[in-house]
Amino acid sequence: MYKEEVRRLQEIIDDSSQIVFFGGAGVSTESDIPDFRSADGLYQQKYKYSPEQIVSHSFFVQNTEGFYEFYKDKMMFLDALPNQAHLKLAELEKAGKLTAVITQNIDGLHQAAGSKNVLELHGSIHRNYCQKCGKFYDAAYVKGSEGIPKCSCGGRIKPDVVLYEEGLDPDVIRKSIQAISRADTLIIGGTSLVVYPAAGFIDHFRGKHLVVINKSATAREVGAELSIAAPIGEVLGRIVVK
Ligand SMILES: [Zn+2]
Repeated sequence: MYKEEVRRLQEIIDDSSQIVFFGGAGVSTESDIPDFRSADGLYQQKYKYSPEQIVSHSFFVQNTEGFYEFYKDKMMFLDALPNQAHLKLAELEKAGKLTAVITQNIDGLHQAAGSKNVLELHGSIHRNYCQKCGKFYDAAYVKGSEGIPKCSCGGRIKPDVVLYEEGLDPDVIRKSIQAISRADTLIIGGTSLVVYPAAGFIDHFRGKHLVVINKSATAREVGAELSIAAPIGEVLGRIVVK
């Protein structure tokens, strides 16, 4: 399957030395992390809210307990392991061929696979801070806490995750645009490209090869040189790093 596409991707990667990878939820689904937006209807029946509403700043403020119930159950998968996509991208970085991974995921699996330059547009479940004193807590502490995770000072802990209604970190945006504008190859994987800011970022790409790897057809025509409609881990797993 996809033999010709994988051969072409191998050629492109062999021809590149400044690859940037831009990934979305599809990169983590092969590590058995479901997209929280597709959470089952039980929560919506219970709260009468959509996942997007629950994972919003105002919901966090007004119904912190409900937020954490959903967040711990549907967004924190601490046993998940990196898949072929994460591992191959880390290998490409180590070989000096890939300069940055830009991700919309919050699971930390790129770092778990060994990637160093990871730009997390939506933050990470692995960083959590007390809103009163700023003390740091890891994901296990939050996941294991009863109800709302509290700091030793009594303050409320908030994940360093960008919620709906909150802005992205300008520094992460700046670094992402810089990496894309300097890349010779941009590989977009596991995202439909319709989600902000993915669509806008692509406009900064001035390099040679634009590749899209996504299980379902992408919603937006981006003029990719190569488009592979397959799971990203399956495809990248066949690439040989030279
Ligand atoms: Zn505190």
